[in-house]
Amino acid sequence: MNDKNAPVISTGSAVASCLFCKIAAGQIPSRKVYEDEHILAFHDINPWAPVHFLMIPKMHINSMAQVGPEHEALIGRMMALAPRLALEQGCRPYPEGGFRVVTNTGAEGGQEVHHLHFHVMGGPRPWLRG
Ligand code: 5GP
Ligand code: ZN
Repeated sequence: MNDKNAPVISTGSAVASCLFCKIAAGQIPSRKVYEDEHILAFHDINPWAPVHFLMIPKMHINSMAQVGPEHEALIGRMMALAPRLALEQGCRPYPEGGFRVVTNTGAEGGQEVHHLHFHVMGGPRPWLRG
């Protein structure tokens, strides 16, 4: 087999060891909020707020810094889903309630897990953080 026909192995070592890829693959358990072909949402293991879940693309993208025009549909779907999931998870309706959507990007952006994720946080204040 020449290089052109070699199978594309998309799991480089960074991806193979990625915590959120493992959660997306079901190799590490999570408390699921939502799942479809491209998107998974699950409760944060260490919540800052009464409602705190994470939305991830199932495909590995390191962070928002790598997002480009090819991801418009995926990111658009995630953003359009966030309000519905926030309400389903117990956030009160806007404007008295509401929620925060946060994505930490890179070291100076406070990112700890390098698989793109959106924190969705809400519920009555005070919160632990944020
Ligand atoms: P970051 O700081 O990268 O924006 O956020 C990573 C988030 O992932 C943190 O809020 C942290 O609590 C959460 N987290 C880390 N490990 C796990 C895990 O194994 N399971 C779940 N559900 N959340 C995790
Ligand atoms: Zn990943």
